[in-house]
Amino acid sequence: MLFGIDLGGTKTEITVLSDNNYAVLFKKRVPTVKNNYAATLTTISALVDEAQKALNVSVDSIGVAIPGTVSAITHTIKNANSYWLNGQDLLHDLEKTTGKKVFLENDANCFALSEAVDGAGKDYKVVWGLILGTGSGTGIIIDRKTIEGRNGLGGEWGHNPLPWMNEYEQEIAKIEQCYCGKHGCIETFVSGTGFEAEYERQSGQRLSGVHIAKLLNSGNKDAAKTFNLYVDRLARSIACFANFIDPDVIVLGGGMSNLDVLYQELPHKVKEYIFGKEFVTPIVKAVHGDSSGGRGAAFLCRA
Ligand SMILES: [Zn+2]
Repeated sequence: MLFGIDLGGTKTEITVLSDNNYAVLFKKRVPTVKNNYAATLTTISALVDEAQKALNVSVDSIGVAIPGTVSAITHTIKNANSYWLNGQDLLHDLEKTTGKKVFLENDANCFALSEAVDGAGKDYKVVWGLILGTGSGTGIIIDRKTIEGRNGLGGEWGHNPLPWMNEYEQEIAKIEQCYCGKHGCIETFVSGTGFEAEYERQSGQRLSGVHIAKLLNSGNKDAAKTFNLYVDRLARSIACFANFIDPDVIVLGGGMSNLDVLYQELPHKVKEYIFGKEFVTPIVKAVHGDSSGGRGAAFLCRA
């Protein structure tokens, strides 16, 4: 059996998959205790114990999807927006608490791995998975293996500058700073949060992405303008990196991936920006939705 834990900012979820057909055998979600590292360790340990008891097994290893990554220099967590993890030796501490071999992997990489193994990317060699949610992260999978990178930066797309910024976007970038400290990051424009921020600039109202999507469907002008700007920015950001890695499939996840109209508009928009103006890569919706973190983490335990 494969044990995977998705350590999110608001919830911690364990998923247990069968070895042969990856069927879900056990699943449980509990709230993440924020700002408490000791509680993070005990929560994960308790979930593992509970799953083992329920399934009457004892496993040797667990995979954990984490926000951020493990520093190649200090071997502690860095770049996590669950900031209480940063600077902690999570791998060592979890191995001590659970008594298991632990595999840690960035949550966007776990999402991409899950989709590459048995999701929307299962028939492709090079899978680029993009999460467009509260934040925006991506993972690159080749032959069902994650490109982690020497510095743990494989697939870190969101903290590059938005390509080919116009004057309006340059003004936004000047005023608004990304949590990473830089200005004009892709994430600040193409995440769900970025979508909501643009709607606020257009209409003066802060609404949820789901609410704005409803307005878009009902023909609201501000929502339509926001969507057009969003698609154009996402297309530029995809084109720039497709020029570089040219994946076989692009899989979208996170809240924004539920906008069906995105799949009609994006391909021809990407074509406008990509080198040579030809783009035949399928852009598809994730199959496993928000289960991907735990599934991808479980796949880390595959022999
Ligand atoms: Zn940034």
